[in-house]
Amino acid sequence: MNDEPISICIKYGFDDTRIRETILALDIHPAYADLADRINREVIGDEAEELVNVCFAVLARLREFSLIEPNLDVSVFKQVWADQLRRFGQGFHTPAYFAERLTLSAARVHDGLSMSVLHLQHQITQQILVERLITSFQNDPKTVWALMPCILKFIALDLHLTIEAYHLQEIEGQQKKLAACRAESAKLYQKVATDQLTGVMSFSHVMEALENHINKAAQTGTTLCVMMIDLDFFKRVNDIHGHLVGDSVLIHTAERIKSAVRDFDMVGRFGGEEFTVILTNADMALARVIAERIRQDVAETPFHAKGHIIEVTISLGVAMLRPGETREAILERADVSLYEAKQTGRNRVVAAEDLEQAASARER
Ligand code: GH3
Ligand code: MG
Ligand code: MG
Repeated sequence: MNDEPISICIKYGFDDTRIRETILALDIHPAYADLADRINREVIGDEAEELVNVCFAVLARLREFSLIEPNLDVSVFKQVWADQLRRFGQGFHTPAYFAERLTLSAARVHDGLSMSVLHLQHQITQQILVERLITSFQNDPKTVWALMPCILKFIALDLHLTIEAYHLQEIEGQQKKLAACRAESAKLYQKVATDQLTGVMSFSHVMEALENHINKAAQTGTTLCVMMIDLDFFKRVNDIHGHLVGDSVLIHTAERIKSAVRDFDMVGRFGGEEFTVILTNADMALARVIAERIRQDVAETPFHAKGHIIEVTISLGVAMLRPGETREAILERADVSLYEAKQTGRNRVVAAEDLEQAASARER
């Protein structure tokens, strides 16, 4: 036997043990193989299609069914139903029997049939078979009594397998939807978290990351520094070369900043022509070194556009986190330092602690 029925059964949770247990629970014993043969020969005979037509007419009257009927290939649907009827109880103890019925039920779920419609489909089939049994053996109640349980039990088995397939299909469907939602939300998050022009972190993401890293630094007692960076005389670039070239200069500058910081430092665009860098595990001495490296790298790497060489410089303000300080407060101190760098000639790094020391010296 090929392995396909076994693997389908395993997919739906029907290993040999469960197949055996299911048959046992429904009280279907080996003698039912002969009874199933008799049902096939003497109740269904070669009229499986006619029987299905009668059943289908009943099912088609349901509003719930008529709603999905236009999406169904009715002749295939009936064909499959008739085939299933023809194999009624044939080899009921084998994985192949279980696999066939599980697969067909799953296909019907896929077609959009609800559990209640599937349930009715089985009930109608059962009803028609029972009616046919009674009319075929009107004068032979012993045969009616012998075959009746067989019909009821194999229909019960079919229904049981349908319910199992239905639930698994539903779960798989929900999981697929969930995975698609997660992928979509990850994509959206990525979009929101990234500055669309330069590819560095967006303003909102920088603010969120800064909040998290301030909390972490407070918990672990590590140092953290923040840089505010602003392009010098950037308005001139726009005025002379146009806004599009200005955009390219911003992209170029973001790349220079990224290449000059450590791998785990976070670079973000604060808006306009301002950038920020979050330096975790860095004290002021290290932050000064990194800031100076960025300044130098930008100043020494002009941007080439349309035959023009555009010299770019930046000013930087650096602040180190104080105990208990909020993100707004540290950003404010970095910004004040940046302003000082602008006031004192641009293309410079100013550290907040230098300003603060100078201020306290003046007070003394
Ligand atoms: P300073 O050295 O004092 O910072 O001078 P500045 O010219 O850089 O500063 P200012 O604030 O006067 O001008 C900033 C300019 O940046 C004005 C604005 O049009 C431009 N700008 C802001 N965002 C963008 C952008 O996304 N693309 C382009 N091309 N220009 C931008
Ligand atoms: Mg500027
Ligand atoms: Mg500015």
